[in-house]
Amino acid sequence: MGKQTDVVVIGAGQAGLSAAYFLRRAGFRNGTGFVVLDHGERPGGAWQYRWPSLELGKVHGIHDLPGLSFGTPDSRRPASEVVSEYFARYERVFDLPVRRPVDVVSVSDTEGGALLVESPAESWTARAVINATGTWDRPFWPRYPGQETFAGRQLHTADYRGAEEFRGRHVVVVGGGASAVQALLEIAEVAADTTWVTRRPPVFRDEEFTPEYGRAVVAEVDRRVREGLPPESVVSVTGLMLTPEVRRARERGILDRRPMFDRIEPGGVVWSDGTRRRADMILWATGFRAALDHLAPLHLRAPGGGIRMNGTRVVADPRLHLVGYGPSASTIGATRAGRAAVREIRQFLETSSAGLG
Ligand code: FAD
Repeated sequence: MGKQTDVVVIGAGQAGLSAAYFLRRAGFRNGTGFVVLDHGERPGGAWQYRWPSLELGKVHGIHDLPGLSFGTPDSRRPASEVVSEYFARYERVFDLPVRRPVDVVSVSDTEGGALLVESPAESWTARAVINATGTWDRPFWPRYPGQETFAGRQLHTADYRGAEEFRGRHVVVVGGGASAVQALLEIAEVAADTTWVTRRPPVFRDEEFTPEYGRAVVAEVDRRVREGLPPESVVSVTGLMLTPEVRRARERGILDRRPMFDRIEPGGVVWSDGTRRRADMILWATGFRAALDHLAPLHLRAPGGGIRMNGTRVVADPRLHLVGYGPSASTIGATRAGRAAVREIRQFLETSSAGLG
């Protein structure tokens, strides 16, 4: 049956750390009250894996975790380093019981009405689970005809380490989000040539990103997950900011976008009208999906393909909360979701007989 605890938090990124903070504040004790399991080697959530050229000044912004300010670090430092240092400090300051590397492979029911959280290394029986596993572990690769015949190299944003390996190459970048644009700007400086393809025409935002607009985006994602549809990424639908750098790139034609190609051949990509583009590298900046495979034994998928949610609570299973999922998939959303999940779980544990015995 494994060790027993009231709440297991899976994942120690922004969402998991926020939940851990509020559990601690609500009086849950390390170990018997709650534990945080993370399969990373080090603190930093998914931020630790982001490419070194992604400087802090180039990201949308990192919201404070509760109780400890992020401060104003040097914006030219890699976000991966700065955020990892912040998370490590956070875990120390609040003495959070994070166990790593612990790779959760399955969450299932026990006969007593609790949840069994299993990893190859250890397992835990919990009365409630807060899932905070993010998306980084599930890069999304669309499939196109001929993809397997491509003679060059294909990689995903999750594998991107900077522009150097694209030097002198003919490069196709696929995807309409901020990651695609940032990579293009860097790669265009060293590649023989670049081609940008997106499914929909990109939307550039000239005006400031307002709180009203942010709320509208979050409300739309919330509507989707309430209906059991797969969430759309909050960060990806906020549009592309027209920074001075992006403006210059547009003037130079680097961001002249082409519609999605039809198929891939060994030496490049082909559109339906027969137009071809030579390519020896394709970068798929096509986003991520929620990393929830370990929840499969609970059979939570709604007919719409997503998980029906009410706030952070899974409608079909009140023992389970998803934070950093759907409308809370941003650093600000993840922080708030941690608080909301803990509030509901406290009430649930007070009234429920879901036991450990
Ligand atoms: P993560 O940071 O992904 O943390 C999840 C944790 O769960 C990881 O530590 C992982 O090791 C662990 N984990 C996963 N699966 C398991 C498992 N099976 N067992 C054990 N542990 C597991 N948002 C913003 O608000 N501002 C930005 O500027 C911004 N920039 C972004 C840039 C990029 C390139 C990307 C991809 C996303 C960006 N986002 C941004 C979105 C943002 O990163 C997230 O919404 C937020 O940081 C995610 O926090 P999280 O805790 O949900 O997930």
